[in-house]
Amino acid sequence: MTHDPDRNQNAPDSDQDARLYVPSNDVENINVAVKTSSSKEYCFSKFPGQDHFHLLMHGEVHVTNGHDMYCVECAFRHGFLTRDRLNWQYQKR
Ligand SMILES: [Zn+2]
Repeated sequence: MTHDPDRNQNAPDSDQDARLYVPSNDVENINVAVKTSSSKEYCFSKFPGQDHFHLLMHGEVHVTNGHDMYCVECAFRHGFLTRDRLNWQYQKR
């Protein structure tokens, strides 16, 4: 039995997989994309206490909300992505 300290940060059960979900009330606005252009594009958010925006890398998986782009990290923070497969059960519209 292996013990991975990163494993239970976000999920109560140990069979967490890598699948990600968009909460059901955002599902019409949120898209997941891969950055294919080499132009400099930035995440529309930044971490609290940081004064710079995150540069999206070529090939980076990111989240779009209309014309706004977010890195996966910020998309989690804003609740655009979740690892909770059953999120629709307790989210009200
Ligand atoms: Zn970001």
